Amino acid sequence: MLEKQIGWKFDNTYSKLPNYMLSKINPTPVKNPETVIFNHELSKDIDLDFSKIKNQDIASIFSGNNLPEGSETISQAYAGHQFGYFTILGDGRAHMIGEHITKSKKRLDIQFKGSGQTPYSRNADGRAALGPMLREYLISESMYNLGIPTTRSLAVIKTGEDVIRETNLKGAILTRVASSHIRVGTFQYALISKDEKILKALFDYTINRHYPDLKESLFPALELLKTVLDKQIELVCNWMRVGFVHGVMNTDNMTISGETIDYGPCAFMDSYDPRTVFSSIDKHGRYSYFNQPIITKWNLERFAESLLPLIDDDNKVGIKIVTDVLKEFPEKYKKNWIEMMKKKLGLISEDPKDEELIVELLSWMHKNKADYTNTFCYLMNQYKLKNEIYNESQFILWKKKWENRINSNNSCLKKSLKIMRTVNPLVIPRNHLVEEALNHATEKNSLNKINELLKVLKDPYNSNSETYKYQSTQFSEKNYVTYCGT
Ligand code: AMP
Ligand code: MG
Repeated sequence: MLEKQIGWKFDNTYSKLPNYMLSKINPTPVKNPETVIFNHELSKDIDLDFSKIKNQDIASIFSGNNLPEGSETISQAYAGHQFGYFTILGDGRAHMIGEHITKSKKRLDIQFKGSGQTPYSRNADGRAALGPMLREYLISESMYNLGIPTTRSLAVIKTGEDVIRETNLKGAILTRVASSHIRVGTFQYALISKDEKILKALFDYTINRHYPDLKESLFPALELLKTVLDKQIELVCNWMRVGFVHGVMNTDNMTISGETIDYGPCAFMDSYDPRTVFSSIDKHGRYSYFNQPIITKWNLERFAESLLPLIDDDNKVGIKIVTDVLKEFPEKYKKNWIEMMKKKLGLISEDPKDEELIVELLSWMHKNKADYTNTFCYLMNQYKLKNEIYNESQFILWKKKWENRINSNNSCLKKSLKIMRTVNPLVIPRNHLVEEALNHATEKNSLNKINELLKVLKDPYNSNSETYKYQSTQFSEKNYVTYCGT
């Protein structure tokens, strides 16, 4: 009965890959599931209808206690370089319940996170705490609304069981929706099987699922590398655009689809500092704001290594071929980054001095600890709080130069502002607001703050009467520290 109303359309294909790549295993049932938040809008977007389903039934489905018909739960195996060190990993606390097909034939993984132990748990409990799961929900939905490719969040269900960390925390399960969970680390894991049939099976599966046009290509493995390189450059430029610091760019947290995945210690930069790091475990700044493109390239090198057996029978020739592709990364990235920054400043057409103008502003922001997001809002006349910093003489000089540049080439401010408004968010998930909202949810059992924040982050490029309240950086965020969501 429920099934008919909801409209699941499962077609599970990943489980047909060689057994080495996955384990067929069910989530561990939980004691007392309770719906904390459910994303009705996302469910509608993917052609599911939960409008008439009671919260209790939603809780029972998305806790894994009552799996939908047609689901076949699996945990995926993968490996990855974590902070540069190679490790065998896998879904240690995640179960994919199946691939749901939307009316427009989009194939989406429906995955639980925090749903119990699997063969990849490595002595950990397979569970997740409520705070980090709500954090992923909040930030991934915000990234989606910022127009950045990302996995999404459908539900957070409390399990009614405690998870033991430094203290006892409330347990929860997040439902993640992704165009797939195939990672660089999935290929690394296939490679170490030393069985080319396994690697080829994963490769064919990936091409079929994500890039079917490449099937026709003479050199599909090479084309896949080039395509993923382009996708990842686009993604990291988007992160740089909004000041997002992913925090844990291990190769197992980089998707082949080009979606942002794994919202652990991520956070948005406030005052501009290229070395911004939030994660407590990132002692050397490997995943700092500024290092993100460098690490993207490093991860792509690991991806290229995994593809080598499919590139050429002669390893040396293969290495030469992929090296030539990877060599293009710095120039391609820079071109994309400049294009993106030009949009942030509304710079139309070409001017050889544009890069200098961009760098000069960033240096000023860094030196004066100006807020990254709000500085662009100020230039768009969309920053409504008082801030003396913008009366600073060097900034005024820079702004004059910028205005002259805007008015050159038969252009005008109006045209520029139109472009700027499409790429510069007026609001981002400010760290103090995220913390406050999560605190309310975990300590006071109230979702009010989370819902308020979700509402304002839904339309980050347009203002309403509430928007400007969220531009405040009144609390010092200099020492903001985030933790991996385990
Ligand atoms: P992450 O830092 O979330 O990317 O996770 C890295 C690896 O640790 C993945 O293989 C996870 O599945 C695993 N993992 C993280 N937390 C847990 C947990 N509580 N129980 C089992 N495995 C976990
Ligand atoms: Mg991960």
